[in-house]
Amino acid sequence: MNIQKVAVIGAGVMGAGIAAHIANAGTPVLLLDIVPQGATDRSQIAKAALDKLLKADPAPLMHTKNARLITPGNIEDDLPQLADCDWIIEAVVERLAIKQDLYRKLASVRKADAIISSNTSSIPLHELVAGLPDDFAAHFMITHFFNPPRYMRLLEIVTSAQTDQDAARKIREYADLKLGKGVVDCKDTPGFIANRIGIFWIQTAIQEAIEMGLTVEEADAVIGRPMGIPKTGVFGLSDLVGIDLMPHLMRSMNRSLPAGDPLLEKASIPPLIQRMIDNGYTGRKGKGGFYRINRDSGQKLKESINLQTGEYHPSQPASVGSLKAAKHGGLQALVAHPDKGGEYAWRVLSQTLRYAAALVPDIADDICAVNTAMKLGYNWKYGPFELIDQLGADALAQRLEAELPPIPNPSPAGGEGSEEIHGNGVLSPPPLAGGGLGRGGIPPLLEMARAYGFYRHEPGETLYLQPDGSYRPLQRPPGILLLADLKRHAEPLLSNDAASLWDIGDGVTCLEFHSKMNSIDAQTLEMLSDSLDWVAANGKAMVIYNEGENFSAGANLGLLVFAASLGGWDEIAAIVRQGQDTYHKLKHAPFPVVGAPSGLALGGGCEVLLHCAAIQAHAETYMGLVETGVGLIPGWGGCKEMLQRWSSFPKLPRGALPPVLKAFEIISLATVAKSAFEAKDHLYLRPSDGITMNRDRLLADAKARALAMVEGYQPPVAQELRLPGATARIAMQMAVSDFRLQGKATPHDVVVATALAEVLSGGDTDITTPLNEADILALEHRQFMQLVKHPDTIARVQHMLETGKPLRN
Ligand code: NAD
Repeated sequence: MNIQKVAVIGAGVMGAGIAAHIANAGTPVLLLDIVPQGATDRSQIAKAALDKLLKADPAPLMHTKNARLITPGNIEDDLPQLADCDWIIEAVVERLAIKQDLYRKLASVRKADAIISSNTSSIPLHELVAGLPDDFAAHFMITHFFNPPRYMRLLEIVTSAQTDQDAARKIREYADLKLGKGVVDCKDTPGFIANRIGIFWIQTAIQEAIEMGLTVEEADAVIGRPMGIPKTGVFGLSDLVGIDLMPHLMRSMNRSLPAGDPLLEKASIPPLIQRMIDNGYTGRKGKGGFYRINRDSGQKLKESINLQTGEYHPSQPASVGSLKAAKHGGLQALVAHPDKGGEYAWRVLSQTLRYAAALVPDIADDICAVNTAMKLGYNWKYGPFELIDQLGADALAQRLEAELPPIPNPSPAGGEGSEEIHGNGVLSPPPLAGGGLGRGGIPPLLEMARAYGFYRHEPGETLYLQPDGSYRPLQRPPGILLLADLKRHAEPLLSNDAASLWDIGDGVTCLEFHSKMNSIDAQTLEMLSDSLDWVAANGKAMVIYNEGENFSAGANLGLLVFAASLGGWDEIAAIVRQGQDTYHKLKHAPFPVVGAPSGLALGGGCEVLLHCAAIQAHAETYMGLVETGVGLIPGWGGCKEMLQRWSSFPKLPRGALPPVLKAFEIISLATVAKSAFEAKDHLYLRPSDGITMNRDRLLADAKARALAMVEGYQPPVAQELRLPGATARIAMQMAVSDFRLQGKATPHDVVVATALAEVLSGGDTDITTPLNEADILALEHRQFMQLVKHPDTIARVQHMLETGKPLRN
């Protein structure tokens, strides 16, 4: 049995988000909630949740049409409908009695092999199933999604000895392949993995910042980027998730943590934060938080709270010397730096990393699970054990030994296998049984890592430290291929500053962009061209893929402005030509090239994909021809490709005009698709292109697609187009004039749209004259060059480079 139909019970923040993501996987889902008292519509809660899903930003749905897969209902009238669901996810309020009451109802309606799971963040599995039939318990597990469920990649799964292994396997497989989650198996311990360490980290960082008298800007600057943590740091993160969430989570952790757990010492909520919560300063959803936007003066002024007085002041960029040291010397230099930033970094890191090391194997079987959980659940670039390796396990242990008083092992009485009753009378698993903090305050696992670290990179393989002290080869499951793994043990076939070509096996190569933001410049184009030659002589196929946050932010605009400021028009004309020629060569290569984007693929980064034989896109791909936003038009074949795609799209009305108007609408509005599914609407992706839900599976999927195309591969035949000429150009110009009259288009929008209309209509032509690819590229080139010389275009580009936002001139 596969997962064909799902039900989510509880249509709150999490339930609705989970249902949306199940729909993103293409699976029909029932979304049920209670019948509110006196309701006119008995399913109104779930229906309202569905309406909200369609309006929420960022969008929980990858395509609005996915909403059709969600059927709202209520738990009283629609219970019988659960009988044909393969997986029932409970996401109701965090109250044991309410959850158990629901489970009893589910036990009587679910089909024999249906799987039930809870999204609880804090109630142990053994409490949830206590008193329920054995067969129910065998099909029950915890599946802990993170908020927002579409975007947070972590799914923590908790099973027990009683859990049917086949049921657990089905959920892992569905979550991995269909939902794109990184599934991490956790033990049945408080907060599982990510929140256990994450809450400790946040509490430590906040309390130490207050104690050391740091500003929130300083704390976030130190905690964020230098540690590979999003720049929101801890204070920005608290504003984002809600400052009131932390006391709430802390209370539930307090109830279930084993006595002596170091997190209990961090449990107190500082008075300032309590006051903020009481007065509605709960972060972005409230009146403000550690940061706020002050609009009193009619302008948006970013302010930060003073952690000592609670007053707000205009935010200041942090200037601490240790940040500079970290830029050059990494984490070691940061914690060694003698200023308050260095000291703060040390205090937070040393405590958090020591805590994490003390928790394995009690919360997870191995260090990889903990690293993955923190990376996918808190968006850390490096997991705790990778951070320790950066600091040096021995160096960390030495400094800890020198500074820390010996800490008693928190589990002196417990011993393995025993259970203890804590303050709330709840039966908990043994506290920190195998790990703990060790007699001298150094966790045994950290002690073992002192000689060789947590990861050892041997020729051809990477090994990781296990809780018994042995090292084990790191092996990815089938279907997961990472360039990062491969690069650790190989040299590129070709390489320059902007891109490299790698051998990924079976005759397939991978072209990786690695310039800043993966922007495309002359060097990228050179490497693409050289790679095409290399593969033509030596290989079977190529994949264009990288593991940056974004596939490519587009052409390097900084270089463009620089050349324009020197009047280097010939240089600009040459690079436009070089891009056109290289992308043409890519399109007509004698072997298949598969583009495999994830994240942003804009402008020139979108155009490179439009020229690939096929695309295998990560679901979270945001493609778009955005050139008009900076006063330009696509000049590397983007206009030509959109015309060709729409001209051969069978669902468009017949005639020469509709494809031209469609391409005009998409390009003139600088349309960016908000998912790979949306990209199909714009034909940025063809109907035949593939979509991979799990980021880690993208390269293997793209490679498989390329290999499947190798046999009998024929490059596309050069297509001729018959374009309508002046009639179409006038129609487009009239549309833009209307927008201008309505105030929806700016003066320079009109200039840019006119240039675009000239290209898309085919210039001085009519439908009797066929135009080939070179003709349309020549039109693109001419119009691009005219626009780039326009001062309003240069003003747009400069503004974009300085602010990251479009200038509406
Ligand atoms: P929420 O308060 O937003 O929603 C809970 C929903 O459950 C409400 O719509 C309520 O009407 C409904 N409900 C209550 N009793 C019900 C019943 N008997 N039958 C059907 N529906 C019922 O809560 P939430 O934040 O979505 O949390 C839901 C679960 O997910 C909790 O267990 C929580 O611990 C867990 N969780 C929350 C987050 C988060 O960030 N909010 C993250 C991970 C896990």
